[in-house]
Amino acid sequence: MTFIDKHNSGFNTRAIHSGQDLDPVYGAVVPPIHLSSTYAPEAIGKLRKGYDYGRGTNPTRDALQNQIAALETGNAETGFAYTFSSGLAAETALLMAACEPGDRVIVGNDVYGGTYRLLDKVLRPWKLEHQVVDMSNLDQVRDALSAGKARMLWVETPTNPMMHVADIAALAELAREFDALLVVDNTFATPYLQLPLQLGADVVVHSTTKYMGGHSDTIGGAVVTENEEIAQAVNFQQFAAGASNSPLDSYLVTRGLKTLGVRMDRHVSNATAIAHWLSDHPGVEAVHYPGLENHPGHEIAKKQMSGFGGMVSVQFKAGVEATRKVAESTHVFRLAESLGGVESLLNYPTAMTHASVADTELAVPENLIRLSVGIEDADDLIGDLDQALKSL
Ligand SMILES: *Cc1c(COP(=O)(O)O)cnc(C)c1O
Repeated sequence: MTFIDKHNSGFNTRAIHSGQDLDPVYGAVVPPIHLSSTYAPEAIGKLRKGYDYGRGTNPTRDALQNQIAALETGNAETGFAYTFSSGLAAETALLMAACEPGDRVIVGNDVYGGTYRLLDKVLRPWKLEHQVVDMSNLDQVRDALSAGKARMLWVETPTNPMMHVADIAALAELAREFDALLVVDNTFATPYLQLPLQLGADVVVHSTTKYMGGHSDTIGGAVVTENEEIAQAVNFQQFAAGASNSPLDSYLVTRGLKTLGVRMDRHVSNATAIAHWLSDHPGVEAVHYPGLENHPGHEIAKKQMSGFGGMVSVQFKAGVEATRKVAESTHVFRLAESLGGVESLLNYPTAMTHASVADTELAVPENLIRLSVGIEDADDLIGDLDQALKSL
């Protein structure tokens, strides 16, 4: 038990204290990292604190799971979080836990490329079917749900890298009407900016590699739900399929989460400044940021998010070659895959993160760059983009 009242404390208090019980032996304010792979019982069949073997349970992983449950559900006692060795491992565990061969998953048309690859290349051969739709078009979603029984609606919002926004509450209602589960990948928004379970989603998934870890130094994932049946099945997958995360990786995400709120505030303010600056640049064809008033999902984003996130995508008038040149000309923004760290990253999706979907219905425009805006000084970030865009 944690000493704070989780119902009445704010996000940052929960982020810092949930799962962080005072160490009873030394009084360490930061709980130790428990590396041990195994635990000696008091006697045969009599475990000391429920721990026996580290794949299934580990105190450092438990601390992280409590912390994530407290942030995403507001209550670590009624919410369940399970963490994994990557975001994709978390997604695999959820799909294996909640679906059966022959089931159908309806998935957004610009979900993370790896999620699509998992469904298309790994799980389709195991007879899990999928259909791709535009999740910001509710008529299309209703048509897909009407066309045949679906087990799951799988949604990202805002999406990667097109920054489309889907109406979580409306999708939750549709999912309920057709007896499907609504899964929201909340990696881009984080629970600081968006709480899908409170909007009616059944399950939230995360790549903790991104904003939750926040420092580009760990790979991990999480599944969060208040549905006890799904929770137990996911917990079983974690133990029986074995993609649980390590104690050290658990600790790094726990440490990252303590500063999630302050980091996100800066990510949002920097991204807002950059989105406006890019919008005024003559070489820019389009800026995709839900915080811009001309963004098609702006009103929905305003309704369901408390900030518009740190991701900005931009398309250039000058075409593919010029876009690639810009991508290779920044100094503060590093050309690299991934996102959500304190340092700014720049990604050319067509040939990097989204190369695996190049010839599919998820393909990304070739004049598009995705920015993961870090928490450096906004003036330096804009100065860096300014010099890189001179080549246009
Ligand atoms: C990175 C990412 C994933 C996959 O997570 P990994 O930790 O790389 O396995 C899933 N969804 C989104 C939105 C992501 O950005």
